[in-house]
Amino acid sequence: MDEPAGSDLIAANLARVRAEIAAAEREAARPPGSVVLLAVSKTYPAETVAEAIGAGQRVFGENRVQEAEDKWPSLQERFPDIRLHLIGPLQRNKVRRAVRLFDVIETVDRPEIARAIAQAAADEGRCPELLVQVNTGAEAQKAGVLPEATAVLLQECRVHWRLPVRGLMCIPPVDADPTPHFQSLRDLARQHELHELSMGMSADFPIAVRCGATLVRVGTAIFGHRP
Ligand SMILES: *Cc1c(COP(=O)(O)O)cnc(C)c1O
Repeated sequence: MDEPAGSDLIAANLARVRAEIAAAEREAARPPGSVVLLAVSKTYPAETVAEAIGAGQRVFGENRVQEAEDKWPSLQERFPDIRLHLIGPLQRNKVRRAVRLFDVIETVDRPEIARAIAQAAADEGRCPELLVQVNTGAEAQKAGVLPEATAVLLQECRVHWRLPVRGLMCIPPVDADPTPHFQSLRDLARQHELHELSMGMSADFPIAVRCGATLVRVGTAIFGHRP
């Protein structure tokens, strides 16, 4: 997978990742199809994405608003059943554009972003579904709300702004055992009666599925190493 993957390879990679998800669902005694595979297409051009679409993939993640705007509107027109997720940090001045483009924003992590989304959604007449990103490792440089501040942010989003928060998302520290992070995200979601759990990447998505992920975000294992 050191070369950018061609279309046969992308189809084969997708089939393998889907099979690994299905195996992890079985091991965890979860119903088949309980986990959605989100293909992370950041840095890959529209032609490469089109190959994944040709192989049946419909849920994609991008981490930059500008890059997604360059790549996705024409694909969204051709394939109306595509679901596009924002998985990168969101700056306040890009919230309106994100609200126009994305079906799901996974990176709500502070009150000013919640407020900006609520205002943009009212103006635009559309609101993406939302996940709150939790900094489960309490890393200084990482985006996400701290676990102990999550309840207050959720309250603000759901009660004050009446935003459609569906779940939580996390990115465990690099090189750490991800399992305790996945478990603490799952426990936090349960406490708050949230159904969606976005966790697990190429290196650890089967573990995430066994810990209860409903959404895994996989880039490299599908498209190859990013240019
Ligand atoms: C890039 C990225 C991924 C995918 O990572 P891979 O290791 O390539 O699977 C998942 N989640 C987020 C938030 C990312 O930025």
